[in-house]
Amino acid sequence: MNSTDHAPRQNASVAYAARRLDMKMIAHHVWQLRNRFPDNLFNVYLIEDVLIDAASRWDASSLLTQLANIPLSQVALTHCHPDHQGAVKQICITRDIPLACPEGDIASMEGRAPMVPRTAAIKIMQLGFAGPTYPVQRSLHDGDEIAGFRVIHTPGHTPGHVMYFRESDRVAIVGDVLRNNHPITGKTGLYEPPAVFTLDREENRRSIRKLVQLRPAIVCFGHGPMLYDMEQLDRFVARLPS
Ligand SMILES: [Zn+2]
Repeated sequence: MNSTDHAPRQNASVAYAARRLDMKMIAHHVWQLRNRFPDNLFNVYLIEDVLIDAASRWDASSLLTQLANIPLSQVALTHCHPDHQGAVKQICITRDIPLACPEGDIASMEGRAPMVPRTAAIKIMQLGFAGPTYPVQRSLHDGDEIAGFRVIHTPGHTPGHVMYFRESDRVAIVGDVLRNNHPITGKTGLYEPPAVFTLDREENRRSIRKLVQLRPAIVCFGHGPMLYDMEQLDRFVARLPS
């Protein structure tokens, strides 16, 4: 075999690395994709070859460009809201991969039930950001495993909402159980998800406490930058209404 036989593979791996460098590495085999604008608005993560969430329908081409040459086995959602399911259909069809969705949110994802809560705010968000409905190939349940992460049912924001937790280095990808920026100003800080987008705030607070009990080392949110300071999380939870 002469040296030219290696060229295509070398080029492919360089391109692969370059693409990966474009993303933000959070932990071993965990990356955050670039947001279009502004930073950390609708976060999407890649864990090994699984995409966690799919932002809005306007993000499809940016996400597909970033994921070009990167192996993908499935898209897995934290929950079915317009800013998390928007690019699902385009990514699943373009990359010919299945969709995994928490069981309690499947009917919404497939268009057999409305997204919840059924507030005007959700309807407006749907008009602005939601992608088409799409059939779910894998139903996610508490205790399932995806790419080394455990699926943990964290209901409240939606009935099916899940987070993903990796025991070995205590990385948590928490969707909208809580957020690390203000929903209007975008200023960094911990907040509960807005009431108008949350089905059951009491239940969501129980899910926040479930997260804290796991003693995560890195928390990756659906909205806002990563959190490494767990004392901040403890202080936030101590102030929550019981
Ligand atoms: Zn969200």
